[in-house]
Amino acid sequence: MSDILSQIEKLKKEKNAIILAHYYQNADIQDLADFVGDSYFLSEKARDSNADYIIYCGVKFMAESAKILSPNKRVFFPAYANAECCMEYMATPTKVQSLKDEYPEAKVVCYINSSSEVKALSDACCTSSSAEKIVNKIDAKQIIFVPDKNLGSYIQEKTDKEIILFDGCCNVHDKVTPKHIKEYKDKYQNIEVVAHPECKKEVRDLSDYVGSTSGILNYVKTSHKKEFLIVTEKGIAHELYKQNPDKKFYFINMICNSMKKIFPETILEALQEEKYEIFVDKDIIKNAKKSLDNMLLLSRGE
Ligand code: SF4
Repeated sequence: MSDILSQIEKLKKEKNAIILAHYYQNADIQDLADFVGDSYFLSEKARDSNADYIIYCGVKFMAESAKILSPNKRVFFPAYANAECCMEYMATPTKVQSLKDEYPEAKVVCYINSSSEVKALSDACCTSSSAEKIVNKIDAKQIIFVPDKNLGSYIQEKTDKEIILFDGCCNVHDKVTPKHIKEYKDKYQNIEVVAHPECKKEVRDLSDYVGSTSGILNYVKTSHKKEFLIVTEKGIAHELYKQNPDKKFYFINMICNSMKKIFPETILEALQEEKYEIFVDKDIIKNAKKSLDNMLLLSRGE
């Protein structure tokens, strides 16, 4: 084990810390994490853990969500530079408030990839794996869905409720076009196309399966097919190859730069020097916690 990794291991034990990493992190970060998963799984892990320190390897909204769900724990976000999801600044609190004023009967469901301020204005949060359930369960016929218009339109296809879409998107998933998919389908006749719901409708319509990162992993694992075009961030490759050594994967060049700003060195700094701690304003925590708690509550059971 390298010196850095052994120091991380030692400090983790001394400080009762856990490391959480998203599937879009670099492979070395996924390998040193205690838990690797999507934002839903990791937010549950952060909340339920008995650790005193949570080192969160993802993007800022994820680390802030962990802090909001566990305000008494110390949460560290060891990114060497600003690492926000582009959707965090697309839906501003002012824009969300003006939609609330325009549709006073509607409830606001915000994708977890929103700022803490937007979460504080929302009735419930959701992730891509829980969005359908939450929209269907929340007590309103009209839903303002922020900020991802692609995920929102995907949910609109699955519910009778009226979805009021916000004009936001993930720059990484939204740039994929039907042309990309058709090129691969023409070249590799036996591939199955699996896509994330943050992709455009035209891309989803050309896919054999649409689902969250965990959904994609599960689908691929249980499929009898051997070759797949994976239409989501390329970091998921690490887990796909680990779980399916006998299968072949193709990727469109989808890289989220914000997800690549955490390194073993920055994790060590967080543990050694208590650098990169995340703080969220108390009032924001109070209100945003309600929408995150609602997410965890509404996504349970049938
Ligand atoms: S891949 Fe897209 S949705 Fe995910 S963090 Fe990056 S910008 Fe945000």
